[in-house]
Amino acid sequence: MAKKVLKFGGTSVGSIDRILHVAKIIKKEYAAGHKMIVIVSAMSGKTNELISHSKNISKNFNKRELDVLLASGEQVTSALLAGALIEHGVMSKSWLNFQIPILTEGEHSNARIINMNISKIDKFLSERGVAIIPGFQGISKNGDITTLGRGGSDATAVAVAKIFNADSCEIYTDVDGVFSTDPNKIPVAKKIDKISYDEMLELSSLGAKVMQPSAVQTAMMYNIPLEVRSTFTDRHGTEIFNQVNLDYTKSVTGVAYSKDEAKVTLISVQDKPGVAANIFEPLSKNQINVDMVIQNISSDQKTTDITFTIKRDDLLKTIDTIKNNKKIQYESLTHNDKVSKISIVGAGMVSTPGVTFKMFKGLAEEKINILAISTSEIKLSVIINEHDTLKAVKKLHTTFDLD
Ligand code: ASP
Ligand code: MG
Repeated sequence: MAKKVLKFGGTSVGSIDRILHVAKIIKKEYAAGHKMIVIVSAMSGKTNELISHSKNISKNFNKRELDVLLASGEQVTSALLAGALIEHGVMSKSWLNFQIPILTEGEHSNARIINMNISKIDKFLSERGVAIIPGFQGISKNGDITTLGRGGSDATAVAVAKIFNADSCEIYTDVDGVFSTDPNKIPVAKKIDKISYDEMLELSSLGAKVMQPSAVQTAMMYNIPLEVRSTFTDRHGTEIFNQVNLDYTKSVTGVAYSKDEAKVTLISVQDKPGVAANIFEPLSKNQINVDMVIQNISSDQKTTDITFTIKRDDLLKTIDTIKNNKKIQYESLTHNDKVSKISIVGAGMVSTPGVTFKMFKGLAEEKINILAISTSEIKLSVIINEHDTLKAVKKLHTTFDLD
């Protein structure tokens, strides 16, 4: 008999039929004797719908009230699922964030779970109850409702698994697991059976949408094994765990892409100490996350060009910040928001020479121009023109034997 955390995403609870189906999955596990804490997302599309309601009132809708609003989606699915289980003869109860309570810190819409009370739920589990917890939310020290950022039910699942010392944490979703690339766009994508936290963290941060990156990070920090699997099939999913247990036969595990990038270039910036700091300090103060930075070697020792990439949503704010920055001088500013980032990720890259060359050669064969490059031990990312995205992903997927 194990203690399990099961998390069901938005599509898994997207209709009453699906909620009834989820209740059946839980009932089966229950019959096997497991103790279960179940985390649910809002019904698919619900959170977006609530956000758009708020925007119809104000583009600057009050942050505290926005969290109260958004948290309601998960409250609905928690009650429906607990009710469905009771209907199927399984003792079950939903617990809202303030009833547990789940304590968070940090700003509204982007809070982190720091602790939660386990006594009441633990008692319920030992009485053979199935506890249902709404994902994506908690309360602050002041007692205000907070949310954990988009996709935040994953963060709830991982935090609950850690705090309750669960034996496993299963993430149920609408695909069979983690794929070598986006299976909706590239049909030859293959399901990955086992993947390390580091690779999963890179893939999810670089655009693969299966799991919230910060939840993967927490799982890695506390060594909580995860399994991503489908609600709709019985197939074995993807196990995510520590790298030491993995055997690498391939240099690259997956290809990720993200289309929400933009590129900014400052032409003829002075080439002297302190200039880069002066450019980037106000950006960080404005919460703009700079991703890649490239500085050309200056040929005249006096001026140079600096290119950097940011999230596309931050482009206007970035241009504004640079234009209002009295501390820097440059000849002109250019920007391009029709770019995307393509990344290859693999822990096997560390021990395989020539991966960089192979990637560049593959892109060259497709006549795809590389606009910026960044590397880390287990990933290589390039910025390219957005219209080449799928061509590039397909080519790299083939180049690295993933088809
Ligand atoms: N309902 C929230 C969202 O759509 C949280 C989640 O689904 O994990 O972002
Ligand atoms: Mg989700």
